[in-house]
Amino acid sequence: MRPAELNRYFADLTSLPGVGPKTAALLQKVAGPRIIDLLLTGPTGLIDRSYRPKVGEAILGRVATVTVTVTAHTPPPTGRRLIPYRILTADDTGYLTLVFFRAKREWLETRYPVGTSLTVSGTIDDYGGARQMTHPDYMLRPDHDETLPEVEPVYPLTAGLTLPTYRRAVAAALRRVAPLAEWRAPPLEGDGAPPLPDWADAVRTLHAPQSERDLSPSSPARRRLAADELLSNQLALSLIRHRRQQIAGRALPGDPTLMEGGRAALPFRLTAAQDQALAEIVADMQSPARMVRLLQGDVGSGKTMVAFFALLQAIGSGVQGALMAPTEILALQHEETLRPLCDRLGLSLVTLLGRDKGPERAAKRRGVAEGYVPLVIGTHALLSEDVVFRDLGLIVVDEQHRFGVTQRLSLQEKGRRADILVMTATPIPRSLALTTYGDMSVSQIREKPPGRKPVATRALPTTRLDEVMSAIGRAAARGDQIYWVCPLVEENDQLALTSVTERAASLADATGLDIAAVHGRMSPQEKDAVVARFARGDADVLVATTVIEVGVNTPNATIMVIEHAERFGLAQLHQLRGRVGRGDKPSSCLLLYSTGDGEQLGKTAKARLNTLRETEDGFVIAEADLALRGPGDALGTAQSGQARFRFGDLSAHKDVLEWAHQEAADIVRHDPYLDTKRGAALRTLLYLFGQDEAARRLRSG
Ligand code: ADP
Ligand code: MG
Repeated sequence: MRPAELNRYFADLTSLPGVGPKTAALLQKVAGPRIIDLLLTGPTGLIDRSYRPKVGEAILGRVATVTVTVTAHTPPPTGRRLIPYRILTADDTGYLTLVFFRAKREWLETRYPVGTSLTVSGTIDDYGGARQMTHPDYMLRPDHDETLPEVEPVYPLTAGLTLPTYRRAVAAALRRVAPLAEWRAPPLEGDGAPPLPDWADAVRTLHAPQSERDLSPSSPARRRLAADELLSNQLALSLIRHRRQQIAGRALPGDPTLMEGGRAALPFRLTAAQDQALAEIVADMQSPARMVRLLQGDVGSGKTMVAFFALLQAIGSGVQGALMAPTEILALQHEETLRPLCDRLGLSLVTLLGRDKGPERAAKRRGVAEGYVPLVIGTHALLSEDVVFRDLGLIVVDEQHRFGVTQRLSLQEKGRRADILVMTATPIPRSLALTTYGDMSVSQIREKPPGRKPVATRALPTTRLDEVMSAIGRAAARGDQIYWVCPLVEENDQLALTSVTERAASLADATGLDIAAVHGRMSPQEKDAVVARFARGDADVLVATTVIEVGVNTPNATIMVIEHAERFGLAQLHQLRGRVGRGDKPSSCLLLYSTGDGEQLGKTAKARLNTLRETEDGFVIAEADLALRGPGDALGTAQSGQARFRFGDLSAHKDVLEWAHQEAADIVRHDPYLDTKRGAALRTLLYLFGQDEAARRLRSG
């Protein structure tokens, strides 16, 4: 249960004085539904009204506060609604026209009669040689001058929501803020650094920036809130991890003979990196605690092989193993890889897909339920489709970069006592690994199997499309295959992007090659059929949009063309490139970029393409990606399941994150159920930052 003292923060926005349902709905759009959301949505800018020039000296286009006297009123001619109402004013240096569209004439006339002295604040512009201010933000009599704020915060708005309304709501919300028991100890700041404010002060200061510096992530208020937010994130993950360790898993001792047999069945030896990762996994599986481990490694680094041996470890212990892929085609591809190995080892393997029907499906499921099928391959739906296992001991989840903590928790619950191995081909920088997968142990494969040739990577402007087309024609003539990737076309996308179907048609026209195309409007079955045709070698070119669609292993594909490469994230580009260079032929990746109307390629885009040309190390690329794009994009999309922060900035707050990580580990070591006085304060923190899941689970189970 959420502590009662927090109710004031979790009340609906309508409970604020002056905020009705209409305003609340608008505020909800930009901040969120509850008071806490408003409080924790910081201003994005500020308006400085302290610039007080004379009218004649005012810098045009800048917000200024001037004191003037009303000299005349010029209302628009009757019936001419489009002509504004003007109030002419002046000081001893010049004239300033105040402009009002659709004004209430009587109101202006009675309120600001000729001769009135006024302090007005707003942007001064030039209109046909005359200085004017359209709809001043403030018009005060000089005796009310002190009510003019020197600096005002600016918030993100939406249609129908004005800044004054927003600020009034924030002010009302701030009146609810009361001190909370401090959860932070020891202080984060090093010697000599100014102490950070407490939570309540930090929230107040957040909404009262005095200068640009106060808006930066390094301002004391924002650092404090970032520390709170990152601590809540790290604490939640540590608690989840701790709780999992409390639930009995079981020891899977494995069968050395089966493992040896597996190695003997391979046409190659595992690399040192694979052996190391496998050793870490096997150690986890052999221990009675439950394994939840992340296996990271670039596309083609040999994760699937490592997973296979983990599955053998389970099978050798007399329990079943399941391997889950994100799409049916990838599940089938895994089957194709593992079937010969299983045959050699005399292990029975089934692949369960949604498309299986009738008696065949029933027979497969019976085999799994009765336990004489030890190895099951399927899609992520495997566990939700109420497939019954006799005794599931290991779940391997492949390519799960769309998996968040919550999904992991549900998997963990459905899998009963099974160990979990999550494989991701997205190398993740430490900061992201900590915040997104902090509840898991991590193994990395940083070395590729021997014999891989580097992929020659070139960036070319779209204007050289013809050259690219003839190059792929030549490659196809040699018997090579080509991937051609177009960016996803989102609805309402103003940019003229080449869609998959158009490109497939123009490629067919220009090259006469056999083109296969997959696009978003196809059903999963249709997509799979097309991809399978390409994988069989029955098409020369596969035109597609996403990583998953080209996720199949086609060693014969030697060229990857990426159109509008400037629109993809680094990590995505790297993933795509990883689809070629898998065979023994030299391969290349062509990054086609478009510079719009003859403009220069943006700085970031250029840096991104350069990084890609310079290295093939996914971890180096991931760090660069994070630095270039900010954490929001580093995994490609918003649905990547990664933690999102209001204040935590993984480049500006690296030190804060490390602190939070240590601190969380420490807390869980000493107070795993948050029973102490400080523990109670920390529960509050978890709720404040939306980690209810972790807080609720403290007692249950
Ligand atoms: P990932 O799952 O990381 O993308 P895979 O396990 O699919 O990588 O391996 C990619 C390719 O490399 C496969 O064709 C696989 O057979 C091969 N491979 C894996 N491990 C090795 C190894 N140690 N030596 C040589 N080839 C390997
Ligand atoms: Mg794989």
